Amino acid sequence: MFNSSEVLIALEKALNTTQLYMVYQPIFNLRTQSISGFEALMRWNSPQMGMISPDIFITLLENTGNMFSIEDMVTNPPWDVAATWPDPILLSVNISALEFSDPLLPQRVKQNLAASGLPAHRCQIEVTETSPLCDSQIAAKNMTELKAMGVELALDDFGTGHANLNYLLKYPFDTLKIDKEFVAGIEPDTKSTKIVEGIISLAHNFGIEVLAEGVETQSQLERLTQIGCDKIQGFHISPPVMAEDIPALLLQHNR
Ligand code: C2E
Ligand code: CA
Ligand code: CA
Repeated sequence: MFNSSEVLIALEKALNTTQLYMVYQPIFNLRTQSISGFEALMRWNSPQMGMISPDIFITLLENTGNMFSIEDMVTNPPWDVAATWPDPILLSVNISALEFSDPLLPQRVKQNLAASGLPAHRCQIEVTETSPLCDSQIAAKNMTELKAMGVELALDDFGTGHANLNYLLKYPFDTLKIDKEFVAGIEPDTKSTKIVEGIISLAHNFGIEVLAEGVETQSQLERLTQIGCDKIQGFHISPPVMAEDIPALLLQHNR
């Protein structure tokens, strides 16, 4: 077993090497029945420790106050990859709550978009609700600036953390991502189904789209379609894939 300081030392060595890379999971639009975007997810394949979950290494980095931005961590940043996709396929990136309270975030996003040539309207930023940092004034200012640039905003992991319904009033989200915990229990007449149905109708009243995460079966897909969910992600459509596998996925789903 490795302790966290050993993991951190190894991680610092892994920065900007091929050990750290991005994979991409399709976002499937239930209305158009086609892929409308991809979420970029980080992977760390350590020679000593094997595959390490981003849930673990990103939290470790954050705890040291050392949250590197994606472009500082990986050699092939998602913006450059997404710029090669056909319009209007969207790139969705996860930004940790710590990065979100950096006043330079909108400036950085702007630079990345300009350097890669990815139009702002094809970029979405996912803010996780598991940290109360979202409440800070800087985070609110960042969201307003990103929106003004044309970047879309998604509230990630809805239903699991600190975010309450107030977030929908306070911040200009375009999409709400329902956590896979609720999707797992989505059978006819279960409480989870009623919760998801309620979230969808509430979000739609605010003009916000709803994406369900962790869809693993055809029957989950069908139920979510029935109750008006807009988009899904999950192993049923595809697990996260390497950038080079994206053209084949688009050929398969977007004819
Ligand atoms: P997340 O943003 O909620 O990402 C969804 C997670 O669910 C991913 O785990 C994905 O591989 C997994 N998943 C997708 N479809 C299914 C399914 O059908 N069933 C199940 N059981 N799981 C599914 P992953 O890639 O291990 O990422 C874990 C978390 O780490 C992410 O949760 C996100 O919060 C964070 N993360 C990943 N990449 C980044 C990154 O580049 N930056 C930041 N700040 N956080 C990241
Ligand atoms: Ca996410
Ligand atoms: Ca999520």
